[in-house]
Amino acid sequence: MTAREDRHAVIVGAGLSGLTAALRLRGAGYRVTVVERDAAPGGLVRTETLADGPLYDTGATVLTMPELIVESLGEVGIPADDAWRRLDLVPVDPTYVATFADGSELTLPRGAEAIEAEIAARLGDREAAGTRQLFGWLQRLYDAEFGTFIDRNFHRPGDLADRRTLTDAATLIRLGGLASMSSKVSSFLSDERLQRLFTFQALYAGVPPQRAAAIYEVIAQMDIGRGLSHPRGGIGRVGAVLAEALVEAGGVLRLSTAVSRIVTDGGAVSGVVAGGEFIAADAVVATIAPPTVATLLGRRMPRGPRWRRVRYSPSAVVVHGTVPRSVTETWPGHHHTLSFGAAWAETFEDLTRRPGRLMRDPSFLITRPAFSDPAGYTADGASGQVEAVSVLAPCPNLDTANLAWEAITGPYVAECLRTLDGRGFAGIAHRLDIARVDTPHTWAEAGLPAGTPFGAAHTLTQTGPLRTPNKWPSLPNLLLAGSATIPGVGIPPVLLSGRLAAARVLESWDRR
Ligand SMILES: Cc1cc2nc3c(=O)[nH]c(=O)nc-3n(C[C@H](O)[C@H](O)[C@H](O)COP(=O)(O)OP(=O)(O)OC[C@H]3O[C@@H](n4cnc5c(N)ncnc54)[C@H](O)[C@@H]3O)c2cc1C
Repeated sequence: MTAREDRHAVIVGAGLSGLTAALRLRGAGYRVTVVERDAAPGGLVRTETLADGPLYDTGATVLTMPELIVESLGEVGIPADDAWRRLDLVPVDPTYVATFADGSELTLPRGAEAIEAEIAARLGDREAAGTRQLFGWLQRLYDAEFGTFIDRNFHRPGDLADRRTLTDAATLIRLGGLASMSSKVSSFLSDERLQRLFTFQALYAGVPPQRAAAIYEVIAQMDIGRGLSHPRGGIGRVGAVLAEALVEAGGVLRLSTAVSRIVTDGGAVSGVVAGGEFIAADAVVATIAPPTVATLLGRRMPRGPRWRRVRYSPSAVVVHGTVPRSVTETWPGHHHTLSFGAAWAETFEDLTRRPGRLMRDPSFLITRPAFSDPAGYTADGASGQVEAVSVLAPCPNLDTANLAWEAITGPYVAECLRTLDGRGFAGIAHRLDIARVDTPHTWAEAGLPAGTPFGAAHTLTQTGPLRTPNKWPSLPNLLLAGSATIPGVGIPPVLLSGRLAAARVLESWDRR
C-alpha cells in the first residue's frame, strides 16, 4: 500500500457529482469507495428502456459542456481522445425549436454563426446584429464568472475581497450582471419570441426572468452559445462511462447499497454504515440533500446564515411514452422543442409565487431523442415504428403549493396533452402510450426536498459564495457535493461540485 492508499474517501451517491468527486480523489492516488443505493450509477441523469423497446431519458435531457466530463476522465489518466470516444457524442442540431401561441416557429441551430444567419433570414439584419452583440456579451459574462465565482471554493471571507474576485465582480457589474435578465436581453433583442428563447433558462434558476439577475444568462451561454450534445445510446451513458473509468482506475463502486448512517467519532466523521456494514472513512463526500445528511448523522441542520431555510426551484411533471412515427412525422420541432403558451411573466409567477399554482397557459419541453439517435430511441411496435417522446411541464414545488397530486395527475396530464394536440402535436392526446409519469411526489420519495429535482433556487442570496457551503460545519472531513451546494443545479454545475468537494479533501490531506 502506498502512503496515499492508506487514506480512504467514501462518497455517498453515484450521481454525476459523486462520480467526479471520486475520480478526482482516485486520480490523486487515494482509496475511494462510492456507495449508491440504486442498481446503476448516474443518479438523475438516467436512460431506461420502455416496455416496447426504445430508450428514454428519465432525468436530464439537455447535455451541455461535455468537456467537463472529459476533464474528469482525465483525472484518472484517460486521454482526451479516448474520453471523447467513450462518450460517443452526437451534436444536437438544432439546439432548440420553439413554437409560439401565434402559430409561428423559431429555430436556433447549433453554433452562434448559424444562429445569426438563421435570425438574419427570419427576422432581419438588425435582430441578427443584436444576437451577435448578445453572444459577445454572454462570452464576457462567462469569462468573468466561470473561474472566479463558479468553479471555485471560497475558503475565507477574505477571498471575497481578493484582487481577482474584486476585478471580476467589477466586470460583472459593468456588464449589467445585476440588472434583470429580461431587461438585459431585451437591450439586445427586440423580438419577444427570441427574448423568451434566451431567458427561459431562468426556470432552472427558479426565478422569473424579470427578477433573475442577468448573471444567470450564463446558462444560455452554456446551452445556446456552446451547443448541445447527446451520447449515443442515451444520456445515462455519462454516469456509466464515469463509473467504468473509476472502477478501471481501482476505485470501488458498491451499487444497490444504501448508506443508513454517517458515523462520527469526536469532532470528525469516521465512516458510514452501508448495507448494514461499517465502512471506515477518512473523509466522506455526501451528494444528497443536506437535511438527509443531518438525518444520517443523527444531528440537527447546522445553524448560520448560509444554512438558513432554503428556497427551492419549481418542480416538474414529466410524461414518458411512445408514439407511432406515422403520428409524429407531422409534428413541429426536433430533439428539444419548446412549446410556449401566450402567457410568459404569468407562467413564472404561477410556478414561483406562494402559493404556487399549475401553469394557466402552459409552456412545455418536448424531448424526442430519436432525431439525434434513431437507433436507440425508436422500436418496431405492434402499430409500426414507434419513438420515445417525453413531455416536461414545469410545476410548483411541494413547498409553494400543496396540490393533491394523487388526484390531479391523471387529469392534468390529459389536459397538457390536449393542449399540445391543439398546438401542432396532433394525435399526442390519444396516441401517446404512456409508460411513466413523474410528479413532485416522485422526487420527494427519492429524498429531494420540496419535491424538486432542480435543487435550491438561484436567488441572489443563494448564489455563488452565498449558496449552502460544501463543508459541514464542525465536521471538517464531511463535504457536500451536488445541486444543493456550490456552484448550482444541472449537469455542468454538479460535475464541478464533485471536483470542488474533492479539492477540499485533497487540500486537507495534502497539508497533513
Ligand atoms: C426531469 C429532470 C430533468 C432535468 N433536466 C436537466 C437537463 O436537461 N440538463 C441538466 O443539466 N440538468 C437537468 N436536470 C438536473 C440534473 O439531472 C441534476 O442537477 C443532476 O443530475 C444532479 O446530480 P447530483 O449528483 O447532484 O445528484 P443525483 O443525481 O440525485 O445523485 C445522488 C445519488 O445519491 C443516491 N443516494 C441517495 N441517497 C442515498 C443513500 N442513502 N445511500 C446511497 N446512495 C444514495 C441517489 O440514488 C443518486 O444516485 C434534470 C433533472 C430531472 C430530474
